[in-house]
Amino acid sequence: MEYISTRGGAKAPGSIQAMLTGLAADGGLFIPRQFPEGVLGRSLAWKDLSYADLATGILSLFLTDFTMEELKEMVGTVYTEERFSSPSITPVNTLRPGLGFLELWHGPTCAFKDLALQLLPHLLVKAARKSGDDRKIILLVATSGDTGKAALEGFRDLPGTMVIVFYPAQGVSAMQKRQMLTQEGENTMVIGVEGNFDQAQTGVKTIFSHQELGERMSQAGMRFSSANSINWGRLIPQVVYYVWAYLSWVREGSLQAGEEFNVVVPTGNFGNILAAYYGKRLGLPIKKLICASNMNNVLTEFLRTGVYNRKREFYQTISPSMDILISSNLERLLFELAQKDTERVKTLMKELQETGVYRLPADLLEQLGADFWGGYATEEETKQAMAEVFADHHYLLDPHTAVGYKVYQEYTAHTGDKTPTVIASTASPYKFPASVAQAIMKKEKVTGQEELALLQEISQFTGTPIPEPLRDLDAKPLRHRKVVAAQDMERTVRDILFSHK
Ligand SMILES: *Cc1c(COP(=O)(O)O)cnc(C)c1O
Repeated sequence: MEYISTRGGAKAPGSIQAMLTGLAADGGLFIPRQFPEGVLGRSLAWKDLSYADLATGILSLFLTDFTMEELKEMVGTVYTEERFSSPSITPVNTLRPGLGFLELWHGPTCAFKDLALQLLPHLLVKAARKSGDDRKIILLVATSGDTGKAALEGFRDLPGTMVIVFYPAQGVSAMQKRQMLTQEGENTMVIGVEGNFDQAQTGVKTIFSHQELGERMSQAGMRFSSANSINWGRLIPQVVYYVWAYLSWVREGSLQAGEEFNVVVPTGNFGNILAAYYGKRLGLPIKKLICASNMNNVLTEFLRTGVYNRKREFYQTISPSMDILISSNLERLLFELAQKDTERVKTLMKELQETGVYRLPADLLEQLGADFWGGYATEEETKQAMAEVFADHHYLLDPHTAVGYKVYQEYTAHTGDKTPTVIASTASPYKFPASVAQAIMKKEKVTGQEELALLQEISQFTGTPIPEPLRDLDAKPLRHRKVVAAQDMERTVRDILFSHK
């Protein structure tokens, strides 16, 4: 299956090259030339498959230059009950009839990124080996908090790889920071950036497309790859759990076969919701894709007006993994809306780069509205959602998922749509103990407490267990202390790669 760039200026002969390259040479994102449209029409035949077998089936539709056996072997070591502390990997918790939370946080770092980033290392190493490339893979990652940790865990001590993670030094939660700074593994580097996520992401993209650096690395037996959701190999594993959610609901009778459902996705870089959209294109009966944002509501405005304007105030919120103003994967959606007219995509992206704004032509906006609905939650509304769901259902939401819940309420109030709905629950509430505790507990219990101490408080108060990976974080030594200015990211990478190998 051939892959092309959303901007029309680059190609990859197959998924292997698309994955290894990450970002296309023209700055665009790789996408299959022919999308396997509608093939899930027969998905009910997959109803009784295990998660791992379902994943193999879906991956095989896109990653056509791996054999079925190769995919099965890789997937089989990853989606196990041991790694995801749940036999169904991504269980759907049905809160009440017609409303379920797809829990994507049972993996080793307690956020949905694990579903893709536990698998991606295997895909990349296998891809390199199959293409006869024995250069060391240098993973370069910009993170808004959760991708970094998930990538570090996925690649740690994997022979032939090294991971360099840049995170906004002041832009992640204490817990996320602690998770990353205590990272073990001989091949892991974690570096703070004085700036926000967008600056870190822009820095990484610039380093990627630096030709001289790329050539020098190649001579030294190294190549960059990306674990951000610009990498195709990260998106496809995310399609699997939307199919799984549908089949789970059909199995337990919450949905009839073929019955429509809505999906709500707390969104930042637009990767996770794009995976749901691909699920729809594959034939899942998804009615609306509801895009939930926090105060950084650039996507809400875009979905409502067609104007994408990143020239706006940047807010640090209690849902930090969504504190993003440049949603990279939106470009892949534009490509589909524009019927693969890469010139149109290129023009819009150029406008964004040069002016910080673009306006979607009316025909494309209309198509967008057919599939998507957008809303956002303020900080107060997010806390209220956590408090309300806990009071009514004794179910804990993390702040990102709470944004999703609030926007779901807004959607139903606004449209009257009663279609059964699955909300993607993107992180464990224990990853964000300060805001969760503030939302559900008395002030005296919370003020002045360290985040790590709050884990215990929340656990006692709610009678729910602290996830194993978060339990002993305070006992682990800090191993990564470096912080650099955004403009020094490239030099830092050069130092790491060429001074002390
Ligand atoms: C990454 C992340 C998001 C946003 O996902 P995108 O794919 O970037 O849209 C939402 N919630 C949590 C907890 C995350 O880690």
